[in-house]
Amino acid sequence: MESNREFYPILLAEDDPISRRLFEKILVKEGFAVTTVENGRKALDLLRQQFFPIVLTDWQMPEMEGPELCRAIRKENPDRYVFIIMLTSKGSKDDIISGLGAGADDYLTKPAHYAELVARIKTGIRILELEKSLKAAADEIHLLSITDPLTGIYNRGYINERLPQEIRRAKRYGRDFSLLMCDIDHFKKVNDTHGHLAGDAVLKEFVSCLTSVIRQQVDWAGRYGGEEFLVVLPETDQAGAMVVAERLRETVRQCETNVQGCTIPITASFGVTGFSPREWKENVKPEALLQQADILLYEAKQAGRDQVKGRLLPVP
Ligand code: GH3
Ligand code: MG
Ligand code: MG
Ligand code: MG
Repeated sequence: MESNREFYPILLAEDDPISRRLFEKILVKEGFAVTTVENGRKALDLLRQQFFPIVLTDWQMPEMEGPELCRAIRKENPDRYVFIIMLTSKGSKDDIISGLGAGADDYLTKPAHYAELVARIKTGIRILELEKSLKAAADEIHLLSITDPLTGIYNRGYINERLPQEIRRAKRYGRDFSLLMCDIDHFKKVNDTHGHLAGDAVLKEFVSCLTSVIRQQVDWAGRYGGEEFLVVLPETDQAGAMVVAERLRETVRQCETNVQGCTIPITASFGVTGFSPREWKENVKPEALLQQADILLYEAKQAGRDQVKGRLLPVP
């Protein structure tokens, strides 16, 4: 933790120039990056442009006092924690209680004992580090909750959540919208012939083909079911979506999975649908699009597999 100090820049708000310089000097000597301002108002203005995880604030200052600054920081920074230490010459219990009530994490009475000040900042850093690790764990859990563990792409839960949002967005901004549903052909035979692990390897290979074909920033794909995948193509009309599907069909055809000396080729079938918002007055239901894609996928299977079938969602 000792080496972490440079990652925790301190904002110091203190109106008295002598105290300000003294605090700054001691903190810089201790290895902290310090920025100083003369009052709470300036501290708040600066915090709006630049994040400081630690704020050291005097109580009595012109323009904006310490407690008011604390309240404003708490109100404006709901996502990232700011550790606030109040410096005060007030020592009464009531003042301390009101300072803590305004949102300060800790307080020090002036004149401050420098070793104590540094010790209290270190306490703050421990809390901030804990917050960081909790956030990282929460992010990891969130990612796991929306990811298919085998293939690493989005899972069905995520599709259910995001697809309606994408559709509403396309509708609102008048953008074309397409999606394609694909299903690996005769996949059961892969499992039956080569075993489930080989089947898993094929699924992973299929997904890397899929992600290599779509536009990384805009399009996204998810695992809809066992060997069925959904590709969402915002801002893409039917003709464009057919091109993507054909390209994907060709890519899948050409890639082979090598498992234990065996080369496993596959093909896939595709159903492509979508809507043009200019033709739609009513809202477009995600289920209607999925059902249409499914019908087209079935048509592709019936027509002999390794094919793409596409049609816009009919306007009611
Ligand atoms: P079709 O061309 O009509 O799509 O035939 P198919 O054999 O691909 O379709 P079917 O629905 O009969 O079989 C799909 C198979 O996918 C059956 C199931 O065991 C397998 N499967 C689903 N999920 C997984 C998985 O995670 N790993 C493996 N190895 N197999 C899976
Ligand atoms: Mg003061
Ligand atoms: Mg299949
Ligand atoms: Mg299937």
